[in-house]
Amino acid sequence: MADAPITQDVMTIPRKLPDGPQNLVGLTRAAMRDALIAAGTPEKQAKMRVGQIWQWIYQWGVRDFEAMTNLSKAYRAELAEKFVIEVPEVVTRQVSTDGTRKYLVRIAGGHEVEVVYIPETDRGTLCISSQVGCTLTCSFCHTGTQKLVRNLTPAEIIGQVMVARDDLGEWPEQGAPKNEVRLLSNIVLMGMGEPLYNFEGVRDAMKIAMDPEGIQLSRRRITLSTSGVVPEIARTAQEIGCQLAVSFHATTDEVRDKLVPINKRWNIEALLDALRAYPKASNSERITFEYVMLKGVNDTDEDARRLVKLIEGIPAKINLIPFNEWPGAPYERSSNNRIRAFADIIYKAGYATPIRTPRGEDIMAACGQLKSATERARKSRKQIEAELGR
Ligand code: SAH
Ligand code: SF4
Repeated sequence: MADAPITQDVMTIPRKLPDGPQNLVGLTRAAMRDALIAAGTPEKQAKMRVGQIWQWIYQWGVRDFEAMTNLSKAYRAELAEKFVIEVPEVVTRQVSTDGTRKYLVRIAGGHEVEVVYIPETDRGTLCISSQVGCTLTCSFCHTGTQKLVRNLTPAEIIGQVMVARDDLGEWPEQGAPKNEVRLLSNIVLMGMGEPLYNFEGVRDAMKIAMDPEGIQLSRRRITLSTSGVVPEIARTAQEIGCQLAVSFHATTDEVRDKLVPINKRWNIEALLDALRAYPKASNSERITFEYVMLKGVNDTDEDARRLVKLIEGIPAKINLIPFNEWPGAPYERSSNNRIRAFADIIYKAGYATPIRTPRGEDIMAACGQLKSATERARKSRKQIEAELGR
């Protein structure tokens, strides 16, 4: 584990810069209505205007008010003066030999986050980030070693979906038939950051992703992964209603305290209590238990049996993740035989146990490897300096 000091200060930048034009991306419908009224749109028209602008932005992918042809020329000009339609800037785009795409995007303040697109035969999943870095310090996770942390705004979160659709060329042509299978059909909040430490930002962005008049993803196609922020789990069920994945990773508090330190605050029992209530409260299906396979740490047959016992009664699927290594990581990946034996015990107990195939390994796009390139560069510069004896 890196010796980097851990900062707990999460900055949230204001949604509106003091004097600049306001970004319409990321506003809820209610907030957009208020913003339009404040900018002079008559109250009576505001709801209809929100509907029109919303469709241009989220259904057609338009970024220029001039293209909003069902609004009068004068109104378009007014909007252009007071508002912008802004998404994060794509700094680099890497494509893996397996088709996985990784984008590094820049957001306000010069921060950078990573976004990963994973194509599969029957779906395409976008793995998005909710924070720059992460305040938590799971000992096997590269993101957890990043010092700088701030919450992403809803615009920056939904903006990741919008730039991916730009790159995939997936905004519909007006009048063209709808594609049966969408290139970007699923979202997982499994990139950088702990989504439940940025609850409102994530909620507002996912509401936009689910809105029937825009990107239109069903809540069943959105999965939020949490390390176990127990008090926010019930709220996720009520206010977002998406699928839930939990970074479980250990079967005793002693080991989980080390791997997922938030366990010291909310232990396995407290976490399981919250999870038991989730499917009913959210009207969702199974909970995904993520379990990273670390050689000699959490991968024995006994662990597998304990895991089955712990989750008894919870509709679940267990996703085994072979550990993805990163420079300086303090763990090793369990052997394939070990992973298979572990999976077998769980499978025989009646649970689906997909073993997650690492995707985009050649571009460091696999789970837990995300860390902003500038942070990485900074580190290697430090290493170079150390080698030069400075
Ligand atoms: N912060 C959230 C979501 C991001 S991480 C969470 O922790 O759930 C997405 C998944 O990748 C989590 O289950 C996380 O524990 C796992 N992960 C992190 N580092 C990893 C690594 N190096 N190898 C494999 N999985 C890792
Ligand atoms: Fe944060 Fe998740 Fe990484 Fe833990 S695993 S440090 S919660 S991003």
